[in-house]
Amino acid sequence: MSKQPLFFEPIFKDRIWGGQRLTSFGYDIPSSRTGECWAFAAHRNGESIVKSGEFKGLTLGQLWKDHPHLFGNLKGDRFPLLTKILDATQNLSVQVHPDDNYALDNEGDLGKNECWYIIDCDEGAEIIYGHTAQTKEEFQRMVVEGKWDTLLRKIPVRPGDFFFVPSGTIHAIGAGIIILETQQNSDTTYRVYDYDRRDHNGNLRELHPSQSIAVTKVPSEEPKKTHFHKRDGDMIITTFVECDYFNMHKWELQGTVNITEKDFFLLVSVISGAGLIKQNDESYRFKKGDHFMLPSGYGDFEIYGKVELIVTHL
Ligand code: ZN
Repeated sequence: MSKQPLFFEPIFKDRIWGGQRLTSFGYDIPSSRTGECWAFAAHRNGESIVKSGEFKGLTLGQLWKDHPHLFGNLKGDRFPLLTKILDATQNLSVQVHPDDNYALDNEGDLGKNECWYIIDCDEGAEIIYGHTAQTKEEFQRMVVEGKWDTLLRKIPVRPGDFFFVPSGTIHAIGAGIIILETQQNSDTTYRVYDYDRRDHNGNLRELHPSQSIAVTKVPSEEPKKTHFHKRDGDMIITTFVECDYFNMHKWELQGTVNITEKDFFLLVSVISGAGLIKQNDESYRFKKGDHFMLPSGYGDFEIYGKVELIVTHL
């Protein structure tokens, strides 16, 4: 039996920093503080479910375990990625993730590399990426003394920007940003700073200064801004990152493109427009806000439409 695209049901998460702008993806959001749409998730806090077809009702985690051929028979105890769209109406807390070695030794879990594509943002929106300290001692002193304004490096962002956030990089999403985030599927996060905010019980959120100091790279690296562009038919492919953890591209199509068989699975998030994916006499429509996976060994296919897709693979 031939393989089909697998469309997943989005999962929504209420967040104190969330808002209502995920409705711009056509989503029926559950609250006026919806912060996250989980697009591809096999996580204890949320499991993506297949919407239709042969695997309808199965979770991404079940597919990974019971139908490994869909993923090219990759090894691993869990689906390796987690993709979300976030609507940040306030600054998110400043955090850092350990690398695999530190995380396995100290948390019994994998580390976390992540990457961000800015779908939309307000004029003047900023992220935090890296810091200004030149030595570990200086970094430690500034954390202990709470010199956040001079320590944390702010970067203005615009729609279409991309950032690879390797483990050991201090980072935070700022207010007024809608972002697509893909990360390693792990839970190892150390909170560096939370703007001294208190919750409704008057409590500060827990910070992890000693772990943050241990895992943060000093000095910090500049974000890489060189991306590769390639034309294929009526499509422009922008390659944002190719690394051991994930590869991320943007496919901008106005017309038609023929794609030859990939021997790996593709995660596709539709961030604007609409189109049609066609293989032999079967076709599937998709539109902004849809998230689908093309299984490994799906075969050659065509895409029609005027769309922007974020395409991730291993
Ligand atoms: Zn993070």
